[in-house]
Amino acid sequence: MKEKTCLALFSGGLDSLLAVHVMMDQGIKVIPVNFDHGFFFGAYETRDGVKKFKSPLPPEIDPVVVDISADFYEMIKHPAHGYGSNMNPCIDCKIMMMRKAKEMLAQFDAGFVITGEVIGQRPMTQNPQAMVNIEKESGLNGYLLRPLCAKCIEPTEPEKLGWVDREKLQDLNGRGRRRQLYMADGYNWEDYVKAPAGGCILTDECYSRKLKNYLIEYPGKKLEYDDMYLMTIGRQFIKDKVRIMVGRMQSENEELAKYKSKGTFFECVSFPGPAVLAMGEISGEMKKFIASIAAGYSHAKNNMEAEVEIDIETAGVRSKIGVKPMDINLLHGFRLDK
Ligand code: SF4
Repeated sequence: MKEKTCLALFSGGLDSLLAVHVMMDQGIKVIPVNFDHGFFFGAYETRDGVKKFKSPLPPEIDPVVVDISADFYEMIKHPAHGYGSNMNPCIDCKIMMMRKAKEMLAQFDAGFVITGEVIGQRPMTQNPQAMVNIEKESGLNGYLLRPLCAKCIEPTEPEKLGWVDREKLQDLNGRGRRRQLYMADGYNWEDYVKAPAGGCILTDECYSRKLKNYLIEYPGKKLEYDDMYLMTIGRQFIKDKVRIMVGRMQSENEELAKYKSKGTFFECVSFPGPAVLAMGEISGEMKKFIASIAAGYSHAKNNMEAEVEIDIETAGVRSKIGVKPMDINLLHGFRLDK
C-alpha cells in the first residue's frame, strides 16, 4: 500500500538508520535504498549473486543496492551546481539520488521518499534554501520527507494526507550530534553505529586533486571504476598522457599487480623496490623513464650510479632493462596530486 510504504535514501550512517527507524516506529514500511556511486571502494560484497553492504547492519535493515556509478561518473565532470570544497558535487549528487528514488517508487509500490537529512547540518546541501531547491529539482515536490527534522520545516504531502503522523517525527537541527546519539541509545546499535561507513572520498583533498588533474589530462575519457579506484593506490604521476602508479608498500605493489593486464608492469629485480603500473602509449624512451622511476624508489636510490635491473611485462610478454635510479625530486611536476 503506497500510503504506508516509503523508500529511504540509506547511506549506512547513523542519521539514515535513525530516519528509517523513526518511520518504522510509526508502522510505515521502509525500503532502504543505497546508491552505489562507484567510489565507496570496498563497501560492498556479493552475497547469493546480489550486491550487498559489507558492514554489519541491524537485522531488520537490508538495503537494496542500486548502482548509479555510470551516471555519476559522467555528472562529476561538469556538475550543474558545482563542487563543494573539494571534488564533491553534493547538490547534484543528492538530486541524482532523489530522482532515481522517485523513479523506483512505482516498482516498490511506495508513496514517498525519506532521507536522514537534518536541517543546518551541512552548509552546502542542508541549509533551508538548498533543501527546498534540491527537492524541487528532484521532482519529488512534496513527497520528500525528512523525518529527523520534519517538525522544523513545512509539512509534506504524506503528513498533510494523514499517511504519516507529524507528531511522531523529530525536530533535530544544526550540526550537533548529541540528540542523534541519545536516540541511538534506545536501539541497541552498539555493534553498528560505532563503525560508521567510510566517508565520501570526493571530500578528501588529496584524492580530489588527483581526480581534478586526471580530468584535465583526459578530458574526453569515459570514467570507469578502475580509473577512480587506482587513484587511491600508490604515488601517482602523469607524463605525456601516460599514467604511472608507484606502490609505496607491499600491499600496494600487490594491488597494482592485479591490474597488470591493463597496462605495462615494472618490477625491480636486482634491488628491493616498488611495483609500477603504467597505462597509456608507452614508447621505448618512456619505458626507460618509468623503469628509472622504479629504480629511483628502490633500495638503490642513494647510489645514482647503481645499475638496477627492471622486469617489464606488457600483455604477458616479459623483458628486462637495466637503468640508473632517477632523482625522484625531478618528478614533482608530473605528480597527479600537485
Ligand atoms: S559527500 Fe559525497 S556522497 Fe555525500 S552528497 Fe556529497 S558527493 Fe554525494
